[in-house]
Formats: sequence, C-alpha cells, structure tokens
Amino acid sequence: MSPVLVTGGSGYLGSQLVAALLRSGKEVRTTVRSLARAQELRAAVRRGGADDAGLEIVAAHLMADDGWAAALTGCEEVHHVASPIPVAQPDDPDELIVPAREGTLRVLRAARDAGVRRTVLTSSFAAIGYTPKPGAEFTEADWTDPDTPGLAPYPRSKAIAERAAWDLMERDGGDTELVVVNPTGIFGPTLTATLGSSMQLVKAMLDGTMSVAPRARFGIVDVRDVADLHLRAMAAPEAAGRRFLAVADGPTLSFVEVAGILRGRLGPLAARAPEREAPGEDLPRPVIHNDRAREDLGWQPRPAATTIVESAECLRDLGFLQAGR
Ligand code: NAP
Repeated sequence: MSPVLVTGGSGYLGSQLVAALLRSGKEVRTTVRSLARAQELRAAVRRGGADDAGLEIVAAHLMADDGWAAALTGCEEVHHVASPIPVAQPDDPDELIVPAREGTLRVLRAARDAGVRRTVLTSSFAAIGYTPKPGAEFTEADWTDPDTPGLAPYPRSKAIAERAAWDLMERDGGDTELVVVNPTGIFGPTLTATLGSSMQLVKAMLDGTMSVAPRARFGIVDVRDVADLHLRAMAAPEAAGRRFLAVADGPTLSFVEVAGILRGRLGPLAARAPEREAPGEDLPRPVIHNDRAREDLGWQPRPAATTIVESAECLRDLGFLQAGR
C-alpha cells in the first residue's frame, strides 16, 4: 500500500489527521521538523485511537529542500498541513509569509515531481474573508487581499501561500491535482501535549487570564471535522481544483458568546469565563457558508457549542487547568 504523506503531523490538526488516516486503515508517513518529537507524536496518535504501527515519521523543514523528495517517494496522496501559526504575531511578517509560501511551493513541486495524484492543502478562512466587504457574507469565491490595510502577518501568510499554490498549479502543476480546505477557527480536543493558539484562547477563558472578551466574531470548526474534510477532499474526484470552507453551521460567534456557552454548559469549570466585552464599535457579524462541503462532499460538522464544550473538557482532562500550567 502506498503511504499517505501528512506534513506537520506533530501539530494540533496534523496529529488528528494522522490518527484519522491510520484509523481508516491507511499507512501514513508524516514530516516533523525535529525527530525529537517522534515519541510525543506516536503517543498523540494512540490517544486518538489509532495504532501507530502504520506510521512512519521523517524530518523535513519548510525552508529547506532536504528530505522532501524522500518524504514523497512512493506517495500518491499528500495532505499539506504544516505552516507557522504562532500565538503572538511577529514584528517581521516574513517570519510567517516566507515559510508558508516557500513551504507550500516546495511541497507542491516535490509532489508534482513524485507523480502524486492529489495534494490537499490546509489554507484558512484567513485567505478568504479578511478583507472587509459590505454584508460580510463569505463563500469560496472570496479572497483576502494580502495588501488589506492593517492585515496581520498570519492571515497575509495564508492568503499569499494559497494564491501561490493555485498559481503554481496553473503554470506548472503537471498531473498532480490540488484541493484546498479553508477552516475558520479550529477548536476541539487536542491529542498533543502542547497547546496551539486556539486552545490557548479557551484556556485563557477558563483560567481567568482573559478577564474581558476581545470584541471579535469568528467561525468555529471542530479539529476532528477538519480532519474528516481533508479525507473527503482527497477521496472525491469532483473536488479537484476547488476550495472548501470548513465552518460549523449557524452564526459566527463572539468571544463573549463563546464564554457564555462555557458558563452555561460547564458551571464551576467556567466560572471565570469573561462576562464583559471590551468597549468599542459593534463589528458586522460575518456570515460564512459551508454549503459546498456539505452538499458536494457529504460533510457534516458538529455544532459549534459541542466543539467549545469538548475543548474545555479536554483541557481539564489533560490537566491544563491546574495551577501553574
Ligand atoms: P500547529 O499545531 O502549530 O501545527 C503547525 C504544524 O506546522 C506543526 O506540525 C509545525 O511543526 C509545522 N510547522 C510550522 N512551521 C514549520 C516549518 N518551518 N517547517 C516545518 N514544519 C513547520 O497549528 P494547527 O492549528 O494544527 O495548524 C495546522 C494548519 O491549519 C496550518 O496550516 C494553519 O495555518 C491551518 N489553520 C489553523 C487554524 C486554527 O485555528 N488553528 C485555522 C485555520 C487554518 P513543529 O511541530 O515542528 O512546530
């Protein structure tokens, strides 16, 4: 059986995707920056209910050619998940833009050269809906303009990297197909021992660090549902050359609404979640459509409230809410 390559298997989404692929009976090869994280990754996929015997872990960095040709050898399917997503934005946007763009191009070229059938790229809603528009209603037809005034380095990096991927496919993609998944804010249980930026936000709400909720509204999608959408995007012939927004049904939520769900559903565990929103103007409530993934790929995301509650329960169960963590 030819292995499926997942880049960034050590991450929050990557580890859930590796576990989902292994559970479905695939053999999986994954890249990490440092093989020192191999045992931690094996433990994570076992926590995700998968047998790690079918997992091979290799080293490759988005900023270097070394290792990519070997990582792709014998693969017909690639999920390119790795991209820098820091908790705090760097002063120099190139710290994110360069690895995001160059890494995507490096993986796609290596995939093309290895004769890979299809690559599914994890982009983001940040590449779709971060340029304000009247009505704030977004579908896969929308694009974030990387030159939008005030756009933070991370959304710029995702918009630039995804655009570069489609440009390469059009110019010089060979026979390999590209499908793009564009998740909104990813929440839900983590398999890894380190917390990414979205789980840090839930932790901050629960441990009282976030005493006032920032005034922002966002879409939510469960990490397990994004992994499932990656699998569907790889399998469906008609997905080739298309983007798929990944967001739970229903309205986008504000931080204070998320805090309200936590307090309402979890009682004492969420007693310190913020009740007040930072002062400021009311921003438009974005409307983000998931019809394409639902109708064309049969994708059925969990309700956002379930994801929020299970994020908090996971933080509690892994001990992240104990003093000093
Ligand atoms: P994460 O836990 O930080 O995972 C990021 C992964 O990328 C890690 O495996 C990391 O490897 C790898 N990586 C970062 N820089 C790299 C480099 N220079 N070379 C090689 N690997 C590198 O973040 P995540 O939330 O799972 O994000 C996964 C993907 O989903 C990213 O493409 C992100 O943009 C996208 N996304 C995330 C969200 C969200 O809310 N979290 C929303 C939309 C889209 P190390 O383990 O070596 O650090």
